[in-house]
Amino acid sequence: MDEIYLNGSFLPRSKAQISIMDRGFLFGDGVYELIPVFNKKVFLLDEHLKRLKNSLNLIQMNEIKGLDKIINTLIKKNIKNTFFIYLHITRGVQSSRNHIYSENIDSTILLMCEDYPAFSENLIKKGFQATIQDDFRWMKSNIKSISLLGNVLLKNHASSNGCYETLLVRNKRLTEGSTSNVFIVKDEIIYTPKLSNELLPGVTRGLLIKLINQNNLKVIESDIYQLDLINADEVWCSSSTNAVVPIVKVDDNIINDGKAGSITMKVYEITQDFIINF
Ligand code: PLP
Repeated sequence: MDEIYLNGSFLPRSKAQISIMDRGFLFGDGVYELIPVFNKKVFLLDEHLKRLKNSLNLIQMNEIKGLDKIINTLIKKNIKNTFFIYLHITRGVQSSRNHIYSENIDSTILLMCEDYPAFSENLIKKGFQATIQDDFRWMKSNIKSISLLGNVLLKNHASSNGCYETLLVRNKRLTEGSTSNVFIVKDEIIYTPKLSNELLPGVTRGLLIKLINQNNLKVIESDIYQLDLINADEVWCSSSTNAVVPIVKVDDNIINDGKAGSITMKVYEITQDFIINF
């Protein structure tokens, strides 16, 4: 886990250094990806690289080639079978601190392995609590930006209130969670907020929509209002860390008598099968 990749070299994590003039450090000027590796196999790599390319494009940075080779080397070097690849690209180092970026600087490219903190099935079956907050983040949440201060504050709000996640609403409409996408179930139909600049196009969200459609369940991408959320029959959050996390209480509102819903658990099982057979 200790060997990382930084700007062309593999080296121990403790030896890696970046300049204080790196625009990622000074401005949060960069993007990232978190890619699961299950049993030494990188999961949905094309989808993650496609989203990375899109994030880079949206901040006027060029595509980075050869990342797949670096990822494969890190997987070989790692003694663990299941973990995350954290991939972090900043606009690079500039000689003076200036909001205006110079066109001809080299990107800083960091890849490292991180533990995969998946919940046990027992915890998943018990379900989790969530809380609602105003989505005060910027209007480009579709970019997987390393500037995560809003998400950091919102996730910590969840944690300090004994919750797994903060569910975000803007103008009474649900956008996403602070570190996840959100699905609700009403009358056996699954809904998730439609993609826009206000939410991250989660790779897991995309996978779940595909698997739901393949398994004779119905999912609709649409506007979801705060009232729909608290009156939902079932709610779950999705992310690469935990594909399906049942939410059984949102603030004071108990969802599905405080139990993980049957459709949620079906989607959880379908997804676990997909991961195991990937
Ligand atoms: N939304 C936000 C704000 C996130 O941070 C994440 C994951 O980090 C997601 C959604 C889920 O994305 P993915 O399924 O690609 O992990």
